Amino acid sequence: MENVIKIVVVGGGYAGINLIESLKKEFHKELKRNIRIILVDKNTFHFKKVKLFKGIVNENVSDLHVPLKHYCRSVIEFIQGELTAINSEEQNVLITREDESVIHLDFDRLVLALGSVVREADPERGGISLKGLESAQCIRQQLLEKMLSAKSNLRVVIAGSGITGIETAAEVGSWLKEETEKAGRKPNSVEVFLINDKQRLLYGAPEKIGKRLQSRLMRHGIKVMHNKKVERFLDGKVIFSDNTELKADVCVWTVGLKPHPSIFDLGLSLTEEGKIKVDSWYRLVKSENIYAIGDCIHVVDPISGTVAAMSCKEAISQAQRLAQIMKSHIRGDQASVHQTYPDLICIGLGPKDGFVWAQKWGVDFVLSGKLAEKIREYTWNIASIAR
Ligand SMILES: Cc1cc2nc3c(=O)[nH]c(=O)nc-3n(C[C@H](O)[C@H](O)[C@H](O)COP(=O)(O)OP(=O)(O)OC[C@H]3O[C@@H](n4cnc5c(N)ncnc54)[C@H](O)[C@@H]3O)c2cc1C
Repeated sequence: MENVIKIVVVGGGYAGINLIESLKKEFHKELKRNIRIILVDKNTFHFKKVKLFKGIVNENVSDLHVPLKHYCRSVIEFIQGELTAINSEEQNVLITREDESVIHLDFDRLVLALGSVVREADPERGGISLKGLESAQCIRQQLLEKMLSAKSNLRVVIAGSGITGIETAAEVGSWLKEETEKAGRKPNSVEVFLINDKQRLLYGAPEKIGKRLQSRLMRHGIKVMHNKKVERFLDGKVIFSDNTELKADVCVWTVGLKPHPSIFDLGLSLTEEGKIKVDSWYRLVKSENIYAIGDCIHVVDPISGTVAAMSCKEAISQAQRLAQIMKSHIRGDQASVHQTYPDLICIGLGPKDGFVWAQKWGVDFVLSGKLAEKIREYTWNIASIAR
């Protein structure tokens, strides 16, 4: 009987499913005969989290979940359960299922794609963190209630101006205008404020790009406040760290991501922030056959020295490269090393507008309007190949 190599991928997020797609391509002929791939996730579904803000503006959000069993079909095996321990010497992992039963799963190669969770604001600070579909629907409910009861302008504050904050502000702004019109009120009775704790938007991009994006947002009626940090939302007021205040009806926190908390319990070598340390081939410290990719890792580009960002495009590029690396390692060949994803930002600005920036050879390429929105939609769709 031929040797079968068992690859276990834990995490069916963007990194996990894109790795599986690339492994399918790399091992096309050997799949099932010599290569067995098992996907493990604690959920039954892949969650298209980059579109989370759509959960605020839509009542039906079922299309943001892709059932992993259906995605895996016959070629890939799927196990629902949470990775709770790794025994690297004996090459097995413990998977705890919902009914508390435990599966011992052997592996020849293990990939951890455990991702991240939304950084939440302390509940005592008021407002709602956009952290999942439930909170998105709760924000939707609050906005609709406040809109119907508002005696003056409805004022919404989005605290945190990364891509999620920008997209949420634009989408919520345009949806609320439609809803107020439907309710027979003036569309300009809605005000959306985007609060930025830095001097400008898109801090990693050149200044002029941040300014262009801001003027695009202004066209949508979004007011951007720079150098401001929200401390709390209390009694209908947002209170800033400089003790100034802004009257507001709803405050939504969009303050970034942190590595998945379950990583802390696995006994791995981690950074202070809780990210798994890996080498340039995504291998864990002192390990030949355990890899990690995506938001859960700390990896440094060996040429530029840049630390990889927690982003979908970075996770996908690592997934594609890892499939090649694994093939080379299995065959005993030389493998290519990690490279940071090039500068590219795609942002949706409501249902009819978008903003794309790319930099190549020191030249900035910027696109906005309907075409940019189409590119954004395309990148969302290819990222979640699990349709
Ligand atoms: C609201 C929001 C908007 C975003 N917008 C953008 C954007 O516009 N552009 C962009 O590039 N990035 C964006 N991101 C970031 C992007 O979503 C992440 O970079 C991407 O999800 C990383 O993919 P991943 O596979 O590493 O992790 P995840 O997508 O987090 O997937 C991790 C998977 O691992 C599973 N898992 C975790 N622990 C265990 C365990 N112990 N056992 C079993 N399974 C486990 C989880 O259930 C999950 O399915 C956004 C994120 C959020 C939250």
